[in-house]
Amino acid sequence: MSLKARAQEKIERAGIANYSFDHDVLVMCGVRYEIHACACGEADCDGVQLHRAPYAGLGGGTLQ
Ligand SMILES: [Zn+2]
Repeated sequence: MSLKARAQEKIERAGIANYSFDHDVLVMCGVRYEIHACACGEADCDGVQLHRAPYAGLGGGTLQ
């Protein structure tokens, strides 16, 4: 299963229906998350981590 498919499963398991993918970036409620593989080895780990993309977002502003 691809990382993206795992992330999608994780989100749907959390009951979140309002999301989309922009290439390999997950977009939830207007926030972008990078999808990373997780190798922590925890028994209940689903093997995927979502990291909030540092550069994204409204109001972080370089608008001039
Ligand atoms: Zn993990």
